[in-house]
Parts: sequence; structure tokens; C-alpha cells
Amino acid sequence: MIIGAGPVGMSAALEAARHGVRSLVIEQRRRDDPAGAKCNTVAARTMEIFRTFGIADNVRAAGLPDDFPTDVIYCTSVAGIELARIPLPSRLERLNADHHYLDSHWATPEPVVRVSQMYLEPILRRKLESIELITFMDCTTFVEYQNVDDHVVVRYALPDGRQGTVTAQFVIAADGGRSAVRKQMGVKLVGDVELGRTRSTLIRSAAIKSLFGDRRPAWMSWVVNHKVKGNLVAIDGRDTWLIHRALPIGEEDYDSVDLHQSIRDLLGVGRDFPYVVLSHEDWVGRRLVASRLRDDRVFLAGDAAHLWVPFAGYGMNAGIADGVAIAWKISAVLSGWSSTRMLDSYEDERLPITDQVSRYAMANLLENIEAVGKRRIPRSLSSRFNPVGAVLRKLIGRRLVKLNVPQFTPAGLNFGYFYDRSPVISYDGEPHPSYDMGSAPSSTVPGCRYPHHWLEDGASIYDRLGRAFTLLRFDASLDVGSLTAVARQLGLPIEVVDVPANTPMDHQQSTLILVRADQHIVWRGSSLPANVSTLLQHVAGR
Ligand SMILES: Cc1cc2nc3c(=O)[nH]c(=O)nc-3n(C[C@H](O)[C@H](O)[C@H](O)COP(=O)(O)OP(=O)(O)OC[C@H]3O[C@@H](n4cnc5c(N)ncnc54)[C@H](O)[C@@H]3O)c2cc1C
Repeated sequence: MIIGAGPVGMSAALEAARHGVRSLVIEQRRRDDPAGAKCNTVAARTMEIFRTFGIADNVRAAGLPDDFPTDVIYCTSVAGIELARIPLPSRLERLNADHHYLDSHWATPEPVVRVSQMYLEPILRRKLESIELITFMDCTTFVEYQNVDDHVVVRYALPDGRQGTVTAQFVIAADGGRSAVRKQMGVKLVGDVELGRTRSTLIRSAAIKSLFGDRRPAWMSWVVNHKVKGNLVAIDGRDTWLIHRALPIGEEDYDSVDLHQSIRDLLGVGRDFPYVVLSHEDWVGRRLVASRLRDDRVFLAGDAAHLWVPFAGYGMNAGIADGVAIAWKISAVLSGWSSTRMLDSYEDERLPITDQVSRYAMANLLENIEAVGKRRIPRSLSSRFNPVGAVLRKLIGRRLVKLNVPQFTPAGLNFGYFYDRSPVISYDGEPHPSYDMGSAPSSTVPGCRYPHHWLEDGASIYDRLGRAFTLLRFDASLDVGSLTAVARQLGLPIEVVDVPANTPMDHQQSTLILVRADQHIVWRGSSLPANVSTLLQHVAGR
């Protein structure tokens, strides 16, 4: 059973279905309630997951028009002067192999997509509703759960006050930041309760695009001037825009930033500028991580497990990785080839990542606060005629680009993270390579994501990975029959894929690499170990 049909709950249900596991998803919202325009980035790593669901093309096609650039700019207002620009491609430019952008070299079959959560959620929902293994109940609110022996009894309420119960083998709680499941578990959120406050307003205005004048429009425009700090995000590239304004550091009263005047100051327009407010939300930026993710058969995932400032686009994206991870592990147990050690590994693998990512996001926020957030910005910054303004723009622009290129091209957050204390990974003593937000070395140390590469026939190696484990063999003459025979005896699904030894990836002398369905390496070697049964039972969590 999955509680909550946000991006995390829906992804968990899709992953379970991919492994033949039936689920019931309950959601308190009505089926046709629109999703909020909260997250605007589907990370490359998430797109790799969506590729396995068969929805990557739909996600890539949604939101911005084909020719709308995903540039990030820093400016004195949207209509004002640019301090700096991070050029990033439109969908069409991305397809042109002659163009090179800061993330063009990434080893992934699925580059990042700048699409709003309000377009992403309906794509996930349509997929979910097309799958017979998934039952979706809207207008259904979780009330309480009880772990009973080998199952969980969940009580839910309907809008007319009636209540019912469901008996589930396992529960994934993806019920968001205010998670009622987490509260019932008694799990504390630990970290920084408040990092800053923001006003976010979704508006409609056909006039905004023209504020870019002859310049290339930007997907995200960061504004800094003596009146306001915030940003404008292009949602559909036509007339829908999301505007965030930061409250001064330490300020708690949202009304200290006038709702409409701050929008005009950010756009650089007068009172007569036409726009309509579609929705509005005031929110507190936090860095909070749950102290644990599990109560027996009930698991927390997504915002229910962690909340942090949306720097580097890693709130929703890390949450989807949680949801898919626990759905795969539960599926392994329900399919009969794994057992409880696999479930234990969820917290051992995901909790350290959660903590790590949240710290990167916070560090980036703090550096930005240091650079501009807590500074009083002089009027001269916005003046085209004051030479001091020109010098300041150059200095601040240079600093902001240096700070933020890693945030908008976060190779490390996508591909660098590794599982270093998992009870279902066979380590060989080589340390994991360190990574930072913007870069990650490719590595085959167990626990790392197997580095992506293309195959001779144009397919991605990821398209060849099996539903449980895949043994990648870089020397076809190696006999791996003993491993496949033991896997068969154990009922463990395993595929063997021959990879040309000249693959453009350094496989570091390992001629055999065992990879899980989530693309993480669980073992490597130059020959099979003496006891293949011990290895397979270890990685299968038996
Ligand atoms: C203004 C803003 C900007 C953001 N920008 C970014 C960004 O740039 N990048 C990024 O990665 N993230 C961003 N985020 C965070 C991102 O939106 C969340 O991380 C993401 O929505 C989490 O998904 P989820 O499925 O865990 O939770 P949610 O999206 O909150 O979904 C939880 C679902 O559970 C349902 N539910 C709750 N309680 C119950 C109950 N008792 N019974 C049944 N159903 C229930 C809710 O109705 C909801 O549909 C942003 C958030 C905000 C507020």
C-alpha cells in the first residue's frame, strides 16, 4: 500500500508494478485537483528511472516549448541589466550534437529536463491509471496504521466521514512534509528548522516574455536589486511564470515583502503591467531529515522523510530515488528471492544519501546568502550610468556564476552518490571516490552507480539491465555457468550481458561486474569468487 500520490508515491507504485507487484495507492486530493508548480527540474538520474517506466519521452516533451532555452541568468530585474548568464540548451538545441553545453558531456542516456511538477504529476498519474496492477483511490485520507505480525492494517477516511481498513503486506508512506504516518511513528525530523522564508506566486502574463527584449529568454532569472531578491521561472514558456521572493534574513512577517510590489520590482515594471495571480504560497526553507525511515513494515519516502531548501533541484528528485528504492526492495521480498535483510538495507543505503544531499543543498544556499542574500544591495547596481554599478555587476556576476554552475549542472548529486554501508553490497576494500555537487568521477567501486555507456547498436547499457541483477561480462570467454546455475537454484533472476572490452568506460580491470536493477554495482571481480552461493545470498539479502 502506498499513502500519497505525489511524485514519490506514484513513482513507487510504478516501480512495484514493473516488478509485477500489485499496489493500492490512496490520495487525499481529488483526482482532478491540479498539482502545484513546485519543483521545476527532473534530474538526469530521475529521467533514467523514468526511462525504465517508459515515460521519459513524455516528460521531455512537456512544459517549455521546443525552442525555449533553459538558460539561467542573474540580473537587476527581468527587464533590467544582466550580471551573468549560464547558457543551457533548449530541447531542440540539446538534440544538436554540434552544440556543447556545460552538461553535454554527462554520461547518461537521459539529460536533465526543466519541467514543472504541475506537468510531471499528470504524466505519472496517467501512467499509473493505465496499469492494471495499481489501484488508485482519490479523496481517501490515511488515518492510522497498525503493524500486526506479518501485515499492516491501515485505516482510512472518505470525505463523507465513512472509514474503512485495508490489510497490506507493506506500506510506503509518501504523504509529504506534514506526513501523518511519520507523526504516528514518532519519528523526529532533525536538522535546521529554518533557513529562510520565501513568497512564491504563480502568475499568468503574456507580457513577461517581451521583457527579455532581443536577449535569449531564460528558464530561470535570478534578480538582485536594492528592493528585492528572488527569481522568475518559466513554466510553459508562454504566459505562466512562477515568482519566488526571499524575505530579508531573519524576517518572519511575510507581509514585509508586499505581494504585488515585490513582483513588479522583480520584473522591473510599473503598476500598469498586466498579470493575474493563479496561486500563492508562503513557505519556510528547512534542512530536516528523519531520524529513521522505518517502523517494522512501514517505510517513509520523499518529503515524509526529508525536507530541504530546493537548491540544486533535489527535494523531489532524491525523494523519487527513495520511493523507487524501497518499492524495488519490497518487490524483491514479495517475489520470494529476498528477505528481511533487503528491507534493512533501505535505511542503511538511503539515510546517509539523504543527509549528504541536504548538506550540499544547504551549503549552496548559505554561500548564496553570503554572496548576495545578507548584503544590502546599493541602488547603483541597477544604474546603467553609474560606473560603480558596472563594476559591482561584474564582480557579483562572476561570483554568482562560480557558485551556481555546480547547482545547475550537479553531476555529483546525480551520479556521484554511493552506498557505502549496505548489508546487501559486497565491498572489496577500495574506497569510494569522493564527489562534490558539480562533479563526480566514474567508478566501478561496489556501491557506486554503474557508469552509463552506449552499446554498439545504439542502445543504452541501462536498457539491457534485468529486473533483479545483471552480470556484465567484459570477456566473453569467461565461464560464468556456475553463477547462473546457483542463481537458478536460489530462484534469483539474473541476466548475463556481454559488454565489449573496449567500452568507453574504465572498468578498472574487473572483467565481471554485478549490477542491480537500480544500476548500483553490488560486486565486481576478474573471476567468479570461490563460493558464488555466498555472494548471491549476500547481495540478494537472504
Ligand atoms: C515552492 C517550492 C519549490 C520547490 N522546488 C523544488 C525544486 O526546484 N526541486 C525539487 O527537487 N523539489 C522542489 N520542491 C520540493 C518538491 O516539491 C517536493 O520535494 C516533492 O513534492 C515531494 O514529493 P512527495 O511525493 O514526497 O510529497 P508531496 O508532493 O507533498 O506529495 C504527498 C502527497 O500525499 C498526499 N497526502 C498527504 N497526507 C495524506 C493523507 N493523510 N492521506 C492521503 N494522502 C495524503 C498529499 O495530498 C500529496 O498528494 C519545491 C517545493 C516547494 C514548496
